[in-house]
Amino acid sequence: MTSSATATAVTPYRAYVTRVTGIRRLSPHFIRFTLWAEDLHLFDPGGMDQRIKLFLPRPDGTVPDVGFGREPQPSMMEWYQQWRLLDEAERNPIRTYTVRDIRPADCEIDVDFVVHGTEGPASAWALGASAGDELIVIGPDVRAEQAGGGIEWNPGTAREVLLAGDETAAPAICGILEGLAASDEAKVFFGETYIEVPTSEDILDVRAPSGVVVRWLPRDGAPLGEMLGHAVRDWGRRRRIIFEARRAAWAPGLTPVGAPAGSSGYEELSPDEQLWEVAEPDGFREYAWLAGEAGAITGLRRHLVKEIGLSRKQVSFMGYWKKGRASA
Ligand SMILES: Cc1cc2nc3c(=O)[nH]c(=O)nc-3n(C[C@H](O)[C@H](O)[C@H](O)COP(=O)(O)OP(=O)(O)OC[C@H]3O[C@@H](n4cnc5c(N)ncnc54)[C@H](O)[C@@H]3O)c2cc1C
Repeated sequence: MTSSATATAVTPYRAYVTRVTGIRRLSPHFIRFTLWAEDLHLFDPGGMDQRIKLFLPRPDGTVPDVGFGREPQPSMMEWYQQWRLLDEAERNPIRTYTVRDIRPADCEIDVDFVVHGTEGPASAWALGASAGDELIVIGPDVRAEQAGGGIEWNPGTAREVLLAGDETAAPAICGILEGLAASDEAKVFFGETYIEVPTSEDILDVRAPSGVVVRWLPRDGAPLGEMLGHAVRDWGRRRRIIFEARRAAWAPGLTPVGAPAGSSGYEELSPDEQLWEVAEPDGFREYAWLAGEAGAITGLRRHLVKEIGLSRKQVSFMGYWKKGRASA
């Protein structure tokens, strides 16, 4: 690459300095923010479970200068390094969210916040924000050569899908379902979706492909993760028989459920389970996407792999938050 090409290269993620133009209380625990910035027409419209970073203000409402005002903008590595070098008191909170909707023509995006009190800076910001407030969103730039980062939804060849998550994953799951429903392939996907939410009033509207059943699971006082656990285990019990039949009927040209030919179909999890792993389901027929509270999600992933016989390559699991621990 020439030095002039390097100088003009577009970094995959751009800092959009947005203004709040809309605030909608969707339900007791969800607030939708519409954010506007002149350059949001550059936001990659890929959607699905596209993650973003929120560069939240410090308690005094300011943010440190890490070079976002420069063009071309600093790479994620550059600004993050600069942010890390700040004194702890100077640093502002950064949190990871999902872009719920992208309207490049209107230079707008929507972000749905789960509000869980004022202990966490992101939730506190959402509860206190007003129209006109500034929020820096770090999101994908459609002009970048390596566009498409930050989307974990990747069914590969699989067409039977299981999506499961808690309220923090609701924006991502709804984004995926609506992305699938709008795609040319909408009719080929089938499967089940479970979204656990705090109360029955938190059930939201979502468009899904006709073959994908969506079930909202209001906790209404039940422990976090319990209802989701029952639903995924029940799915596993029902589908296991079919998976085994498919495996038995395996013939050249078809990939057996759970593992490519030649493998046992069972894969042990390492004892030090990670909180995030993205599947590579090419060659498989089924794909599970799980996200939410880390403890709950890792338990479900373990169940699908160890007891239902899915391969680790078929199960993406993402710990979106951890009970009792602030996100770094
Ligand atoms: C890829 C990705 C996408 C995400 N998308 C979204 C999204 O679109 N919308 C969304 O609301 N969240 C989303 N999350 C989750 C969000 O980043 C976390 O909930 C985050 O901890 C919130 O930051 P905070 O500053 O409010 O709380 P923190 O400062 O991180 O945590 C403070 C305390 O609150 C607890 N806590 C954190 N989140 C919750 C919660 N939801 N309910 C109850 N207690 C909680 C923590 O355990 C901790 O004890 C996403 C996370 C990831 C990794």
